[in-house]
Amino acid sequence: MNNRIRNQYRVEMVRVKKVIRETPSLRTYVLDKGMSFQPGQFLLVSVFGFGESAISFSSYPAVKITVDNVGNVTGALARLEKGDKIGIRGPYGNGYPVKELKGKDVFLISGGCGLAPMRSLIRYYERHTKEIKSLTLFFGARSPEMIPFRENIDKWKGKFDVQLSVDRASDGWKGHVGFVTDLIERYEFPEGSAAVFCGPPVMFKHTAEILKRKGFSDDDMIVSLERNMKCGIGKCL
Ligand SMILES: Cc1cc2nc3c(=O)[nH]c(=O)nc-3n(C[C@H](O)[C@H](O)[C@H](O)COP(=O)(O)OP(=O)(O)OC[C@H]3O[C@@H](n4cnc5c(N)ncnc54)[C@H](O)[C@@H]3O)c2cc1C
Repeated sequence: MNNRIRNQYRVEMVRVKKVIRETPSLRTYVLDKGMSFQPGQFLLVSVFGFGESAISFSSYPAVKITVDNVGNVTGALARLEKGDKIGIRGPYGNGYPVKELKGKDVFLISGGCGLAPMRSLIRYYERHTKEIKSLTLFFGARSPEMIPFRENIDKWKGKFDVQLSVDRASDGWKGHVGFVTDLIERYEFPEGSAAVFCGPPVMFKHTAEILKRKGFSDDDMIVSLERNMKCGIGKCL
């Protein structure tokens, strides 16, 4: 038996193996670190002199994080280059309830950088295809330039239904222009469906209203409402 108690607050320094520019404000960092985690869990990521931010795993099982540059810590992360070191602690959070989603038609609904944690769930289902009946992704971005994970999305289109929308089109865009909720409104969901949301809070309310009208119960809708994070383990708030 292992009698050692894990210190939940211990920060480990890890090297950034690769930086991928996804959009003008989103960067993916491939970390030189292996660890076991569930899709939907997150790390507390720190940069010396700036602080610490909660950032979800954006892949599976590889340890990658995708960060939107919105302020102090995320701005410092945006300046990192290959070979730089950051502090991490975790994984934290419960992750997506993959056991409860077993056997269902699963609909992932996301907007903006909400696609980052969703990608870890998609990568999980790419490895566990038989766990669910079907997978569909709805994703909305402000413009085509703001769509991350382009290479993944192109591959996903060959494997499952991917429904994209942008608020503003640019040259060459052939998809939907408007809100992602327009696509959800016109979609016919089969019985036994479950939806997982991740994105801007403004999207949640409208999406939940539409899905309820279409027969989803509260239990069929999984949404992360946690916005602020300090200790990461539910002790401080
Ligand atoms: C469980 C969880 C998972 C997350 N996963 C990701 C992820 O994968 N990628 C990503 O880019 N972001 C993610 N976030 C949001 C990220 O933690 C915040 O954007 C970040 O902490 C902002 O820190 P900052 O110092 O750069 O911004 P600040 O300079 O502190 O503030 C800039 C703006 O960000 C807002 N903000 C500050 N802290 C938070 C916070 N903890 N949550 C939400 N908004 C905040 C402020 O209200 C302000 O509008 C996640 C948040 C949580 C709680």
